[in-house]
Amino acid sequence: MTGVKAAMPTDEVLATLRMLQGLDLPAHGGRTLAYVYDSGLADADAVGLEALAMFAGSNGLDPTAFPSLLKMENDLVALAGGLLDAPDGFAGSATSGGTESILLAVLAARKGRDHPSPSMVLPTSAHAAFLKAAAYLGVRAVLVDVDPVTLRADPAAMAAAVDDSTVLVVASAPSYAHGVIDPVPEIAALAAARGIRCHVDACIGGWVLPHLDTATPWTFAVEGVTSVSVDLHKYAYTPKGVSVLLHRTAALRSTHLFASANWPGYTMLNATMQSTRSGGPLAAAWAVTRRIGLDGYAELARRAREATLAIARAADGIPGLRVLVTPDSTLLALATDDSCDAFTVADEMLERGWYVQPQLSFGNLPPTLHLTLSAATAPAVDELVDDLSDAVAAARAAGPVRVDPGLAALLGGIDPAALDDAGFAGILGAAGLAGADGSLALPSRMAGVNALLDACPPALREALLLGVLDRLSRPTPG
Ligand SMILES: *Cc1c(COP(=O)(O)O)cnc(C)c1O
Repeated sequence: MTGVKAAMPTDEVLATLRMLQGLDLPAHGGRTLAYVYDSGLADADAVGLEALAMFAGSNGLDPTAFPSLLKMENDLVALAGGLLDAPDGFAGSATSGGTESILLAVLAARKGRDHPSPSMVLPTSAHAAFLKAAAYLGVRAVLVDVDPVTLRADPAAMAAAVDDSTVLVVASAPSYAHGVIDPVPEIAALAAARGIRCHVDACIGGWVLPHLDTATPWTFAVEGVTSVSVDLHKYAYTPKGVSVLLHRTAALRSTHLFASANWPGYTMLNATMQSTRSGGPLAAAWAVTRRIGLDGYAELARRAREATLAIARAADGIPGLRVLVTPDSTLLALATDDSCDAFTVADEMLERGWYVQPQLSFGNLPPTLHLTLSAATAPAVDELVDDLSDAVAAARAAGPVRVDPGLAALLGGIDPAALDDAGFAGILGAAGLAGADGSLALPSRMAGVNALLDACPPALREALLLGVLDRLSRPTPG
């Protein structure tokens, strides 16, 4: 398997890839309710894949060498600008994904205001990509609790957290974990009053919400919003690898552009973090958005939204289950009562062919199940609800998963900052997760592991999961 000295025949390469793909969650079919987005439109998928292949080798590094890519990028930015009410004079860039868009928004804000120790003010519900930006870019994240009932950002508390060092305030439309839209007008106003930038993270909602009636405005129509991110590889249903970051003015964007003539090679000139940049995802996004069209997206948004509301209504009627907060978009967070636990429900759903994403408890919030609903799930809503009902019933019959008290005591005594490899190996052994060669052996049912993590504070969760990642990503043994 690992030998690559001799050429492998094409059919064997493809058969092996198919075998490997069989290990994965299905990316199509509407039963994987996180990570993937399925329009259910075979034609749009096909034209996207053709465009992806056609431009896979093209390089966005130099827009004068590949003017097709520049044209497609400008077209996509214009399309997004129309959806997001961008004013005359706006500018934008296509990036590799939501995280890159957010990193660039934070970078632009940091470079846009000279402060020796810059910070940004975020609701605790903001996507972890902002915490990654904080870690990468040296911008302190000042986290502000959300309203405990609505789970939306609290503008008064955010205003109180702003100080001299603040370069950016953040709102979500909607938040990933709970699917609610923050009070963008109030947050943008507090930023504008102080001359600070305000980023709206519409990575997941930006292609859906413009087609729905939302109570809260959140686009550039709101005065004070300076940048908005929207991922095309989510609800524009395009192949992975494209997001768009828009700025109200070209001047606001200028602080994330980069040039270097200070080496003997070509003058480096980039609008985003990537330098060599495949034309494939961009061309695919261009093709899919053209093929579906705004009327098509309005219909897909309506279908996904109706599915979300139907599942929410049904979930509230399932004994032991409840919707955490009324959804503003096409995302759902479901919680259980004490008769069972969300992690076992997730395992039971997987056995019934559905992937729902466990979210660990956080602050006063219970563990939840996250569901991202795409249009392709709409025809199967009844089946999903039946299976959810059965899954919860099975979880109730099993009762809440318990963490072994000895193991809990062991974890309780660990300082995450001091956790080394030997300590981590000891935990794996005690938890029954150690494979023969010291590797990690994950069970097929994950409720026990999730409950264990859930019992740990966030810093220990991070340390443990970094240990997991380190063990999982090692070269294939020869
Ligand atoms: C998905 C998402 C991101 C991060 O985007 P990636 O494409 O995964 O890098 C950021 N914010 C929100 C609200 C998201 O849903």
